[in-house]
Amino acid sequence: MTTAVVERPGGLRVRCEGVVHLYRTFEGHDVVALQGVDLTIAAGERVAFLGPSGSGKSTLLTLLGGIQKPSAGRIFLGDEEVSRMGERYLARVRARRVSTMLQGSTRNLLAYATARQNIAFARLALSADERRAALPEAELLGRVGLEQQADQVVSTMSGGQRQRLALACAVSTGPQLLLADEPTSQLSHEDRDHVIALIHSLGDDLGTTVVVVTHQPEVAATFPRTVTMKGGRVGSEGRDGAEYVVIGAEGVVHLPTHLAEQWPPGTLVRIEPEDASRLVVSRSEQEGPA
Ligand code: ADP
Ligand code: MG
Repeated sequence: MTTAVVERPGGLRVRCEGVVHLYRTFEGHDVVALQGVDLTIAAGERVAFLGPSGSGKSTLLTLLGGIQKPSAGRIFLGDEEVSRMGERYLARVRARRVSTMLQGSTRNLLAYATARQNIAFARLALSADERRAALPEAELLGRVGLEQQADQVVSTMSGGQRQRLALACAVSTGPQLLLADEPTSQLSHEDRDHVIALIHSLGDDLGTTVVVVTHQPEVAATFPRTVTMKGGRVGSEGRDGAEYVVIGAEGVVHLPTHLAEQWPPGTLVRIEPEDASRLVVSRSEQEGPA
């Protein structure tokens, strides 16, 4: 057997087709968290997910990371469909190629281990060659400002320190896809800027595809593409600062909020093509149905 050459093939492409996700509550009700998400993220692309609380951002992120399986629809990482991966294979993908930093400061780390031990644990599945190619532990801790905390036990750390360590662990494997759910929510402005710089450096150095959920406009502004979730769907997208509404399944278009107030449900409109790239929407003189 020949030894495989370690090469970092850059970022992973991500594709969602008609992704639906339901949660069953303790009372037995179904909560629809995602209702038909179609989304493609190119290899190496960096995207910020925005949207109000409850719009499905965290759910979508855990599905992309293979932590939960969608109730319906398909998710592809590269050419492989996540639902078709066996548990062991998926575990390997998650340990080596796809890093997910979950929302909240407690779920990503071993609470009774030190910072150093947490990083070693995160890198357990890497081959010796991959480990050699990865960022040295001291540099990783330095990048998130935790060089003094290398031997500190996680349970004695502040929320912000845990958040920075969780990100260090997530990037420590040099993943092809990094998914981070509100990675800067508990950080000072200065720490936030360092963390965001670390995330972008992963993209610059390895071509990693990056998806970050955030509520902070300063964080979103560092991403060339934003995806805004609305009621379990992709509501709108931003590219290089311009906002676009996304045409959904069956041709549905959401009006931007400020226009929706002036054009209430039931308004009759006529839609006519003006040329190949413009539609004109005009209100009818007739009263709409009450
Ligand atoms: P966001 O991250 O945008 O705030 P979530 O993905 O966390 O949104 O939640 C989407 C919807 O799913 C919400 O209505 C939320 O209450 C519901 N939900 C999330 N997690 C669970 C769960 N474990 N059990 C039941 N409902 C859930
Ligand atoms: Mg969330």
